[in-house]
Amino acid sequence: MSSIQHDVKSIFHKLGVPESAYTGGTLAVRTPVTGEIVAHVPEVTAAQADTVIASAAEAFKVWRTVPAPRRGELVRLLGNVLRDNKELLGRLVSIEAGKVVSEGLGEVQEMIDICDFAVGLSRQLYGLTIQSERPEHRLMEQWHPMGAVGIISAFNFPVAVWSWNAALALVCGDSIIWKPSEKTPLTALATQALFEKAAEAFGGVPAGLSGLLIGGADIGRQLVDDSRVPVISATGSTRMGRAVGGAVARRFGRAILELGGNNASIVTPSADLDMTLRAVAFGAMGTAGQRCTTLRRLIVHSSVYDTLVPRLKQVYGAISVGSPLTSDALVGPLIDEASFNAMQESLVAAKAAGGAVCGGERVDVNGAASFYVRPALVEMPAQTGPVLEETFAPILYVLKYDTLEEAIALQNDVVQGLSSSIFTTDVRELEQYISAAGSDCGIANVNIGPSGAEIGGAFGGEKETGGGRESGSDAWKGYMRRQTNTVNYGRTLPLAQGVKFDVG
Ligand code: NAD
Repeated sequence: MSSIQHDVKSIFHKLGVPESAYTGGTLAVRTPVTGEIVAHVPEVTAAQADTVIASAAEAFKVWRTVPAPRRGELVRLLGNVLRDNKELLGRLVSIEAGKVVSEGLGEVQEMIDICDFAVGLSRQLYGLTIQSERPEHRLMEQWHPMGAVGIISAFNFPVAVWSWNAALALVCGDSIIWKPSEKTPLTALATQALFEKAAEAFGGVPAGLSGLLIGGADIGRQLVDDSRVPVISATGSTRMGRAVGGAVARRFGRAILELGGNNASIVTPSADLDMTLRAVAFGAMGTAGQRCTTLRRLIVHSSVYDTLVPRLKQVYGAISVGSPLTSDALVGPLIDEASFNAMQESLVAAKAAGGAVCGGERVDVNGAASFYVRPALVEMPAQTGPVLEETFAPILYVLKYDTLEEAIALQNDVVQGLSSSIFTTDVRELEQYISAAGSDCGIANVNIGPSGAEIGGAFGGEKETGGGRESGSDAWKGYMRRQTNTVNYGRTLPLAQGVKFDVG
């Protein structure tokens, strides 16, 4: 048994996950750290998935009647269990998704933060009272639980995305069914075990409140097509979202779509370049370029281009690439060979379109089965070819601009609309950028990069990013149904808009 396999076994033992949950199954799980297979996880059959969905639908009928602050207590306990097991789960994230240690731990911290947020929210699921035009009438709206929420997640935030959805859905009175990425079932098994611990401490959680479906896209499709699941929250590629969005719409379900990004930052003449440099480094190279919010396009004013870009190239040349488990490197591996190939293809296409490539080559860290790369910086003459696409790898395309209008137009002239930022100390530029005529993205930051969002704000993006919102602000409304109530406490029946309908 290799040291990583031993590590996985020991983590699962401590979390109380039985060996049968991760051995002898049909789904081989590879760690991107070395490329070796570390587990064989059993996948659910269609019939088993049906049982899980039916059970979640039944659990909902009980859970919706539990007072919301009491539901919040379950989420508070979940947050505590996550606190107690942060190191173990964080390490498993590093093993399974290849994140460097601080990012693996950061992902679990994000889960803890959203639990705290949701606990407070459990006492704040406010509706409105509205002035009625009729005498002795009251008009109001309330928010009720929706039903079972299907959560489909991507490999790159294997557990945080579940928690953004789960913590909110649970306090909103919904049950949850999780279809994690087939590339990251281990962290899902661990998270489910932690949920069970919280449920046990809570006592009386209805069976099936939180279901887990380990499997591939076929199981995802089954979940998406099931009308017992009124909300599908799906995170992943735009290709997946196009299929899921269409399928959910056909049955008039509600889809929360969190899809691909092609995020840009604009560097203006007044930018603090030292700060910009650090922000760009994290935004473009952090998580080995495998965040939906990764900085992919840097749009630099011509007056600072020749100062910033050479310094940036130095940082790219010096960045540490290595194993997230045995080194303190800042850049870990790509998830798999397909990801490496996609990166190389984009670099070839960029060169063909006139790009000057610096970096991007493979780095041998742990042998032929793992895929580590030096992040690539590509100076492009124009925004064409691969620059318009999301390649899920550390490639930063650099473009030059002369006027802010031109920079904003370049930034917005892609089909994705997730995250964006501007580096400026000029208040006019700042306001123009975040105005209605500025960035068209769901996230528009100032003097920070486009990635690394806090849980307090609503997270998501426009256009082919899918339009969904998760996490903070009023994203909870996506997990509840709005009901408008008109209450007549008088003894007459006036109709709205003065309509007369006297029947004697
Ligand atoms: P992916 O689309 O390959 O897979 C995501 C999930 O969808 C997996 O669980 C997969 O099994 C499932 N799936 C695929 N096809 C399906 C179908 N037809 N029906 C139901 N389920 C289906 O994505 P990935 O490679 O795991 O993740 C990377 C992508 O995710 C990138 O595009 C990234 O930008 C995006 N992402 C977006 C956000 C966001 O919040 N906007 C967050 C993280 C990742």
